[in-house]
Amino acid sequence: MTDSEETPRRPEWAPADAGDAFASRVMPGVNASHDGFEQQPKTNLSVPPNPTRSSLTIDDYVAGVLAGDRAVLARTITLVESNAPAHFEQAQEVLRRILPHSGGAIRVGITGVPGAGKSTLIEALGIMLVERGHKVAVLAIDPTSSLTRGSILGDKTRMELLSRQQNAFIRPSPTGGVLGGVARKTRETMLVCEAAGFDVILVETVGTGQSEITVRSMVDFFLLVLIPGAGDELQGIKKGVVELADAIAINKADGENKIRAESARAEYNRALHYLTPATGGWQARAFTCSAQTGEGVANLWNVVLRFRERTAESGAFEERRREQAREWLHTLIDEQLRAYFYERENVREQLPEIERQVMSGTIPATAAARQMLRLLNE
Ligand code: GDP
Repeated sequence: MTDSEETPRRPEWAPADAGDAFASRVMPGVNASHDGFEQQPKTNLSVPPNPTRSSLTIDDYVAGVLAGDRAVLARTITLVESNAPAHFEQAQEVLRRILPHSGGAIRVGITGVPGAGKSTLIEALGIMLVERGHKVAVLAIDPTSSLTRGSILGDKTRMELLSRQQNAFIRPSPTGGVLGGVARKTRETMLVCEAAGFDVILVETVGTGQSEITVRSMVDFFLLVLIPGAGDELQGIKKGVVELADAIAINKADGENKIRAESARAEYNRALHYLTPATGGWQARAFTCSAQTGEGVANLWNVVLRFRERTAESGAFEERRREQAREWLHTLIDEQLRAYFYERENVREQLPEIERQVMSGTIPATAAARQMLRLLNE
């Protein structure tokens, strides 16, 4: 597929006064409190100096997102990411109303070990796509970010060029908590971005093993970024991750690395040949690229486009989306059941004693679990 076939849609979402000031607002979000709302931009003089936290209604959020208003988009994401119970209902109502407007983007997951060149590649790819008229949202999933504070994916100096683009939106990983919670927020953020007119969503993650599986479960296409390494080519890549990939990018294929990258590519292609495809009807392959020089980056995107075309034809694209929605439902039910159970007064009261009895061998864990679950009927 050529560039021209990919109808560049320059949407009318951008407010007339959107300029560099807008993009520079993206960055403060990196360290913004995820429990509170972002401050209004100082340059916006029409806003009262001390806006109250509840100054946006559900209608305001929905209308702002659908109009592609970046400031409202950022605040909506902050609302969605909030851990405060008071925000939960409001966020869910906003999500319910924007849901019919979501789903229009191609969702691409990108993983690889730290240093593989993910952010450099995303920046190169993102800028290319923005130049082609796309609106690109980059979201990150990094369950370690709450521990390391400004960790690998949270580093705000990353993707500086892309973040200055008016049609790009970069959101660092939500902080606070376990992978499940981080993933839920990212997934909902993705829907919000789509409703705001973003037609390419790039979800980045570091290789922790589990986080790749999580990202795979929310994207259409999954890209594994590797570098040509000496010796064991699989070094640093968690077992099973290669099987999740729809394509492998052997990055840093420049300078003296070029020849090694070529042989790594051939080696991975051989390996991929024997694996069950991550997506039915699509043979995953390895490609070389250089995020630094840009060589091979356009080709990588062509692979994504080809993938979309083929899987749309075969029905695999829609089928995966449907399956993902079903899995998502079950994940949410599990999550909420757990919360419902563990937050109950009688459960909290009795659990420590039951735990002690199980630990000392007084009662078997199976009986103890049944006893605890019976508390739901009390
Ligand atoms: P990440 O941790 O996977 O996001 O990796 P980064 O994008 O931060 O890149 C790690 C380092 O590799 C940086 O110093 C980049 O400049 C460098 N790098 C990234 N892509 C390339 C490339 O294609 N070629 C070369 N030579 N260096 C690269």
